[in-house]
Amino acid sequence: MKPVIALVGRPNVGKSTLFNRLTRSRDALVADLPGLTRDRHYGEGRIGDRPFLVIDTGGFEPVAKEGIMHEMALQTRQAVAEADVVVFIVDGRQGLTPHDKTITDYLRKTGRKVMLVVNKSEGMKYTSVTADFYELGMGDPYVISAAHGDGVHDLVVEALDFAFENRAEDEEELEPADHGIKIAIVGRPNVGKSTLINTLVGEQRVIAFDMPGTTRDSIEVPFERDGKSYTLIDTAGIRRRGKIFEAIEKFSVVKTMQSISDANVVILLLDAQQDISEQDAHIAGFILESGRALVVAVNKWDGLTSDQRDQVKMDLDRKLDFLSFAKTHFVSALKGTGISQLMKSVDAAYAAATANLSTPRLTRALQEAIEKQEPKRKGSVRPKMRYAHQGGQNPPIIVIHGNALEAVSDPYKRYLEKHFRETFNLVGTPVRLEMRTGK
Ligand code: GDP
Ligand code: GDP
Repeated sequence: MKPVIALVGRPNVGKSTLFNRLTRSRDALVADLPGLTRDRHYGEGRIGDRPFLVIDTGGFEPVAKEGIMHEMALQTRQAVAEADVVVFIVDGRQGLTPHDKTITDYLRKTGRKVMLVVNKSEGMKYTSVTADFYELGMGDPYVISAAHGDGVHDLVVEALDFAFENRAEDEEELEPADHGIKIAIVGRPNVGKSTLINTLVGEQRVIAFDMPGTTRDSIEVPFERDGKSYTLIDTAGIRRRGKIFEAIEKFSVVKTMQSISDANVVILLLDAQQDISEQDAHIAGFILESGRALVVAVNKWDGLTSDQRDQVKMDLDRKLDFLSFAKTHFVSALKGTGISQLMKSVDAAYAAATANLSTPRLTRALQEAIEKQEPKRKGSVRPKMRYAHQGGQNPPIIVIHGNALEAVSDPYKRYLEKHFRETFNLVGTPVRLEMRTGK
């Protein structure tokens, strides 16, 4: 599981600046998709080959008793509780404030690992920018400039090293049983996740579940259907009680993100009897960024009039247009309708996500795309694409080799992606393109 870093601090110390620096999307194709709204509080980062999750707890206000600030404080507490490391940011230009002390007291009580970080330190001496903060009793502060990037890399490496050591101590890494396609069922509370799980696995003898002894309390549920093996992984907030699965925890974005990244295929569950919400769109955004294969299931389709059904379909087209690469099924988890087709699409999405695309076939498809439409010049430079090979699976990564490929425009990349998708029938999986210029 990816280590989780929470950014904590009073307003204006630079949390969102640091968040943006850490999560800056590596994938322009994802960044530009129309309709995709990002959740600016949760993101994925990567240093070298080490991925991690970052939470920006903007609006830290631990004293409020009610209202929106109280809500935010609850979210902050949940984020801190779920983090491996808390990065507590203070402002080196403003110096120590009473608010910083309040936060320190709160963090101390949580027992989390805290790294005290002095931001806005560019052009300042370590001793002068940190002098104020020793009073907090958190040892030698780290010093960074989120805006300029100074010290950020080292900070993250230390945070990850710490998270790694800490994990190794109190949590044995679970080696998941190799049991078919790994599926995560995600969606906001009450869309019908536990009902769907019960429909899928309820009547079967479940071989192993509720792996005890881990702080993160993960579950893996192998099951079979139509003679095929699957494993449900880590579905956030769902636990087995006796013979049935129930939603027992409040919604956790972190757990949702973790399950998505551990899965081969994600089933995004939506509720046909409710409007598609911002939370649905955010979850969809996480799936897209993760690169996992996806099937959309619109649940509670039973009992809707045909007008209502049309309404739902329009709502989907309008709000989740960026998921059009995935198959959508209209199902009733309660009545069990549409589930077999849903699982067929899960199989198909997995097959597409793990397809073997040979260099000759990819190169031929590339040549066809170029013959139909050449990439435009950028200034006096014309990009020259020569051949393509597969750089990875789940999601398929197509690496294109040639010269001056930095001049290939985003619309042209999307055109290429569409062409590869159609040629190789890559339904249900994102496709990533990488451009590699020879010299
Ligand atoms: P947040 O409220 O904690 O999320 O803070 P923001 O990230 O919105 O930053 C607050 C202000 O501080 C903005 O005007 C930023 O441009 C500025 N800021 C953030 N990081 C730095 C830094 O490293 N150096 C300087 N000089 N300003 C910074
Ligand atoms: P979760 O929070 O996502 O796990 O949602 P649950 O599975 O607990 O379902 C929330 C509510 O929706 C429960 O009252 C279910 O009985 C109901 N529900 C789930 N699936 C369906 C469905 O297909 N049709 C209808 N009408 N209700 C459903």
